[in-house]
Amino acid sequence: MFTSIKGHSVIVTGASKGIGRGIAKVFALQGAKVMVVARGEVEAKETVDEIRSNNGIAEMQLCDVTDWDAVVEMVKVTESEFGSVDVLCANAGIFPQTKILEMDPEEWDQVMETNLKSAFLCVKACIPQFKKKGNGRIILTSSITGPVTAYPGWSHYGASKSGQLGFMKTAAMELSKYGTTINAVMPGNIYTEGLRDLGQDYLDSMAATIPLKRLGVVEDIGNAALFFASDEASYITGQTLIVDGGQILPESLEAIEEI
Ligand code: NAP
Repeated sequence: MFTSIKGHSVIVTGASKGIGRGIAKVFALQGAKVMVVARGEVEAKETVDEIRSNNGIAEMQLCDVTDWDAVVEMVKVTESEFGSVDVLCANAGIFPQTKILEMDPEEWDQVMETNLKSAFLCVKACIPQFKKKGNGRIILTSSITGPVTAYPGWSHYGASKSGQLGFMKTAAMELSKYGTTINAVMPGNIYTEGLRDLGQDYLDSMAATIPLKRLGVVEDIGNAALFFASDEASYITGQTLIVDGGQILPESLEAIEEI
């Protein structure tokens, strides 16, 4: 049994849908106060309403995580609503699929800004909070794509997700003097609105390559983030946890057909 996270203040970026909504719901179920962050008001409110309808505590802050001033405001609002920031789940991300030959430089920049620069901005904005308290927890949503695996069309995405891990390692060292840890969850294929948009053929072929023979659910990532936020994980920093149903294990098509 883990120490309760009840009453802790948690920022979850990209919490208006998908994995972020799952993370927000998992933390709220444990009694944490959750700041739901995204750009889209309608969907962010849906997350807040869902949490509140289950007697959880949630507020929302509309914020583009690529905008430094908006990110500073996000932290300020969370502190004034909840009294502090205890946990940052930097999860917001995009994954347009375009091969290198067809990719505009602007698309490369947009993916880097949304997935990688935003992690830096959110961490930087939260540091004064963690410094003041002498502790804090940061969980990044990286991916297996980039750090471990590859998929045509996702060179920019893979680079951004690998970049998050490079950033994390130095951040772990710099943040250690504030009693703050930073770790990353690396999801495989998790069924979300974003993934659904890639089409049924993609979903079916992915499920077939996963030893557990199904896509993950958003709570699978929420539970991994909850572990990194727990007191019991206080001696773990700069590390990753792959949550992928065994997807990276098969050495060949034959290997997956054997089971
Ligand atoms: P999703 O369903 O498309 O949700 C993405 C979330 O990020 C939304 O809440 C979106 O809200 C928010 N967002 C995007 N750009 C933003 C911005 N500039 N500012 C603020 N919020 C922004 O995606 P998902 O599948 O849940 O993915 C979430 C994270 O998990 C991403 O980092 C992704 O790379 C990672 N991941 C996902 C999978 C998977 O299988 N689903 C696998 C590996 C890694 P708004 O558009 O309203 O702002």
